[in-house]
Amino acid sequence: MQALADPKSYDVLVVGMGPAGATAAYELSRAGMSVLGLEKQSHPRYKVCGGGLSVRIDQILESDFKAVVEHTIYGVQFTYAGEEPFLIESPSPIAYMVMRDRFDYLLVEKARRAGTEVHEDEQAVGFVQLPDGVEVITDKGRYRTKVLIGADGANSIVAQRLFPQRRLGKRPSLESEIGIGQAPVYPGEGKVLIDLGATERGYAWIFPKKERLSIGVAEFRGRASSPKGVFDRFIRDEKGLASMTVPRPAGHPLPLYSTRDMAEPNGLVRHRALLVGDAGHLVDPLFGEGIYYAVRSGQMAAASVLGSFHDRRRSLLDYELAVMREIYAEFRVASRVARIVYTFPRLCHRLMHRYQEVINLYYEVLQGRETYQTFFRKAKGVVKASFRELLRETFSLG
Ligand SMILES: Cc1cc2nc3c(=O)[nH]c(=O)nc-3n(C[C@H](O)[C@H](O)[C@H](O)COP(=O)(O)OP(=O)(O)OC[C@H]3O[C@@H](n4cnc5c(N)ncnc54)[C@H](O)[C@@H]3O)c2cc1C
Repeated sequence: MQALADPKSYDVLVVGMGPAGATAAYELSRAGMSVLGLEKQSHPRYKVCGGGLSVRIDQILESDFKAVVEHTIYGVQFTYAGEEPFLIESPSPIAYMVMRDRFDYLLVEKARRAGTEVHEDEQAVGFVQLPDGVEVITDKGRYRTKVLIGADGANSIVAQRLFPQRRLGKRPSLESEIGIGQAPVYPGEGKVLIDLGATERGYAWIFPKKERLSIGVAEFRGRASSPKGVFDRFIRDEKGLASMTVPRPAGHPLPLYSTRDMAEPNGLVRHRALLVGDAGHLVDPLFGEGIYYAVRSGQMAAASVLGSFHDRRRSLLDYELAVMREIYAEFRVASRVARIVYTFPRLCHRLMHRYQEVINLYYEVLQGRETYQTFFRKAKGVVKASFRELLRETFSLG
């Protein structure tokens, strides 16, 4: 009888080649590691996503991604259940719009050129922990790896199998794309639309691309009402969409960070495996931004893997500490803001209109000039000063 050949071995195996996995694979390959990237679909592939990238991505991504930017955004049109519109613009860009099929393909090709062996149409289905690594079973074969990176998105099988204690919720969201051909962009050149009144505790959006509009709704807190009902109401109330036929939306879970993510059983590193991007619930709890954190966590995971290979004093746990310092510290504050915004959405809509400088400060977070932590401190200062002014005026008039 012929003996089964040993599975091929790698330094690092990445499950899932979205932005998180492709970035980690790229960083590790160009540092000389042997890397296998498994992707169950084939790029370029469609991904349910608004494709909004805050411009601080410039600080962490090489500029070649600009080749796939469809629009640059300078302002937000705010509405409340289709009413009370106001626009707040910034003199400098706040976001880029990308289609995920083209953006993700670009990142995967970069990883491939840097040396990552990419297997598409191959799905990871099981894992066996070994004393010095992990054996990964796919629908096509088996592989061994010293380190496993779970970058397989919101329904991560790596998280389910290798981090069974992680019990974190996901929020429902729906999105549809309308082809607009050469028609003028809605809600206007360089603008996105955000409606805080469309849903009970979340928001609806219109993010324009060159030939499409991405239209979606997501519930961020509390018990979700019927997402399809909310979506249909948004389409009905939003006057700019009145003449358009909106295709049936697709659903996808949003693995938002919650303050429970900090607790020990929800750690991002176990034995020889790490979770990055959506697999690790690294999605901003205020507006659901996940692409930036997918890229950033992919880089941070790669740095800690390289550290642990080259320096015995370093460990994979460095990744978890780095996420706590850089990402969770921000998400904690974003969570506090989200609690206020989604508990009092109408009041917040009106306050945003009144205190536009607070929105300008938030734009600076998107631009990487402020952090959530400095934003929150300064925003409180602006509102307090304005109340003091109001009191002074009231009493001097009286
Ligand atoms: C409706 C909606 C709108 C959004 N809008 C925005 C937005 O405007 N801006 C923003 O920043 N974020 C947005 N997000 C969040 C963003 O889409 C995610 O945070 C981001 O895609 C995370 O990247 P990732 O690489 O972690 O995971 P993904 O992009 O989900 O990539 C995971 C990859 O793993 C593959 N995979 C899964 N399982 C396996 C397996 N077993 N074996 C092999 N491969 C596997 C998948 O096919 C996929 O390619 C939105 C999300 C939703 C649902």
